[in-house]
Amino acid sequence: MICRYCGKENVSTAVFCIRCQRLLAVRDLVSLPKTAIWGHAPLPPAPVEPPPPRRHVAHLGRMGNGNVGLYLGDKSDFLCIEVRDRCVLGRVVDGTTNAIDLSRYSALEKGVSRNHCALSWQGDVLTVEDLNSSNGTWYNSVRLAPFHPHTIQNGELLLLGKLDVWVYYR
Ligand SMILES: [Zn+2]
Repeated sequence: MICRYCGKENVSTAVFCIRCQRLLAVRDLVSLPKTAIWGHAPLPPAPVEPPPPRRHVAHLGRMGNGNVGLYLGDKSDFLCIEVRDRCVLGRVVDGTTNAIDLSRYSALEKGVSRNHCALSWQGDVLTVEDLNSSNGTWYNSVRLAPFHPHTIQNGELLLLGKLDVWVYYR
């Protein structure tokens, strides 16, 4: 079953998408004939139509060496950051962190910690390291163990708490 939100192919028995953790199975409910079970009662509301499959093209041709392009939430514009040694993603509340501030992407509401995770290079491969965040850094439905760098494939999705962060690099 293909996730309508992120496009990931999931096994047919999956209920939640392995990549973005969204519910997959609502289609069975809405495909019922109108009168089959519900009589004249109104059908339950259709699920909110997800955004179209990812169209992350804004970064193409616009990133230099060592740059990482992030698409946050449903935004189609990207945040270009330069990752040298280590780059922390989080929320800047009172200037006590030099993290990249994700506040304008509803980071607080979505459970992003002030120092949530760090990106760094391991050769040509990007890694993410959870910094013992409250709500976790998730990759393919796995909550990453704190302080253990994990490689990220180009074009994949991280969840910082509930904030979608699509990661692109070259
Ligand atoms: Zn998905």
